[in-house]
Amino acid sequence: MLSQRLHEAMNAQVNAELWSAYLYLAMSLDAEAKGYKGFANWFYVQFQEEQAHARIFMNYMNSRDAKVELLPIEPVPASWNSILDMYTHTLEHEKKVTSLINNLAAIAVEDRDYASVNRLNWFIDEQVEEEESAREMIMNVEAVETNKYGMYMLDKELAARVFNVPAPLAASAE
Ligand code: MG
Repeated sequence: MLSQRLHEAMNAQVNAELWSAYLYLAMSLDAEAKGYKGFANWFYVQFQEEQAHARIFMNYMNSRDAKVELLPIEPVPASWNSILDMYTHTLEHEKKVTSLINNLAAIAVEDRDYASVNRLNWFIDEQVEEEESAREMIMNVEAVETNKYGMYMLDKELAARVFNVPAPLAASAE
C-alpha cells in the first residue's frame, strides 16, 4: 500500500499527465491549423508520450493496490501566437512537471517507500530529457523562425518523429 498522501499526490499526477497530453494535443492541432504538419506531428508524439506517462502511474498504482480516481481535466489554451511560443510554453510547463515529480519523490523518500522511489527515478530522468528537448526545440526554432525556407525544412524534419513506447510500459507488455 501507498501512504495516503503519496496515494493522493500520485492520483493528482495522473491528472497532471493527462492535462499535459491535452495541452500538447491542443498545440498539435494549432500547429496544423498554422500549416505546419511536421510540428503538429512533433506535438502529437508528445501527446502520446504524456498518455503513456499517465498509464505508467496508473499501472504502478494498481500494482500497489492504490485505487486510481480519474478527475476532471481542466481546459487548455486553444491557440498560440507562434510555434516559438508553443515551445516556450512547453519548457515552462515541463519545469512545473519536474517540480511535481520532485515533490512525489520527496514524499516517497520521507515514507521510506523505496519501490515508489524506484518508479519515480524513471520520471526524474525523463524530466531531464523533456526539459532538454524543449530547450533544443526553442534553439532550433529561434535559428530559423524568420526564414520561411528554414521553417519549411525544420517542419519536414519533424514530420519523421515517431512515438516509442517508454521502457516501463514496454516491460509491462512482456
Ligand atoms: Mg509527462
